[in-house]
Amino acid sequence: MPGTDLLVERMKGFGTTIFAEMSALALSTHSVNLGQGFPDTDGPPELLAAATDAIRAGHNQYPPGPGIPELREAIAAHQRRHYALDYAADGEVLVTAGATEAIAAAILALAGPGDDVVVFEPYYDSYAACIALAGAQRRTVTLERDGAGWGFDADALRAAVTPRTRAILINTPHNPTGKVFSAEELSVVAELACEHDLIVICDEVYEHLLFDGRRHLPIATLPGMRERTVTISSAGKTFSVTGWKIGWVCAPAPLVNAVRTVKQFLTYVNGAPFQPAVAGALAADTAYFAGIAARLQQRRDQLCDGLALLGWDVLRPQATYFATADVHADAVEFCRDLPHRAGVVAIPSRVFYDSRAGDSFVRFAFCKRPEVLDEALRRLTEARL
Ligand SMILES: *Cc1c(COP(=O)(O)O)cnc(C)c1O
Repeated sequence: MPGTDLLVERMKGFGTTIFAEMSALALSTHSVNLGQGFPDTDGPPELLAAATDAIRAGHNQYPPGPGIPELREAIAAHQRRHYALDYAADGEVLVTAGATEAIAAAILALAGPGDDVVVFEPYYDSYAACIALAGAQRRTVTLERDGAGWGFDADALRAAVTPRTRAILINTPHNPTGKVFSAEELSVVAELACEHDLIVICDEVYEHLLFDGRRHLPIATLPGMRERTVTISSAGKTFSVTGWKIGWVCAPAPLVNAVRTVKQFLTYVNGAPFQPAVAGALAADTAYFAGIAARLQQRRDQLCDGLALLGWDVLRPQATYFATADVHADAVEFCRDLPHRAGVVAIPSRVFYDSRAGDSFVRFAFCKRPEVLDEALRRLTEARL
């Protein structure tokens, strides 16, 4: 019988996630779960129909390694139409098992022992785990609360870059803060990357979920950046099909080749019938994407207005599925008690930080049906927190 301490050293500390603990609590306390970020309704019916059609039409075996040509063409056309970014469908686009695999393959391909990867905290949980898997070190720069929004100290970012730095990993629009990095902020990152010859890995899975008329700006569009940027996105968040796990990478051929070298041994390929369906959805017109964001913006307003009315200190997000509240207390304890006190589950943002800078923040997911958000607000009202 092997011992209990089987896990390799570099993955210690990545055991059970808070999501598992909170989902279990949600079940045992019959709570409204605003913890995990997935929608509780299906994606567009025509998208679902396209996938079932593809299954019936026999798209059920291994698709080509880089993804089916139709989807790679659709991704390239999408980048051109929305951002005037030109990528060759053949050689500069790679389909992956969600953004998650793209992130893992990019980090494993581009950073190793002795290398640093700079990330902003709070960060999406897979970043830290993948950097650890790669045997590299993460260097975090904190996004600080700045009134109603979030900002970072450009000097702190500069100080985080050393001769060991290989890459800067950024996420805009950003989970969990809902921050959209401004052109000026992206320029700070871009100038640093150019000066130190770094790769930038940019996670843009919320690229279509911006509010109040904001527009997504890919860092690859900035001067000198296309050649050094690995842009990552996914169909899951945009089209409310998080279980489909169709993601992609856009980058110059040498970077795509490096990422593909790793990717082929992680999953090889995935999602044969979903690939043609996503290809169709990506071709939708701008109004279609605007409609998705507008509906989600109503959910944001419903939750944020409701919390604000109850006296919560809410940071209204500019994008994404998530809102943050500052509970001005230990948020881990707060979130462990909340299901018992109010029948609502949320996530303490602490788990997205290395430092203690996020100790009083709580993340709520609002990508839920209006009646679910209403019920959560009703419970929070009754609990008189
Ligand atoms: C959800 C999410 C992902 C994962 O995307 P998948 O396509 O489901 O793998 C990656 N990055 C961020 C910031 C996310 O919120």
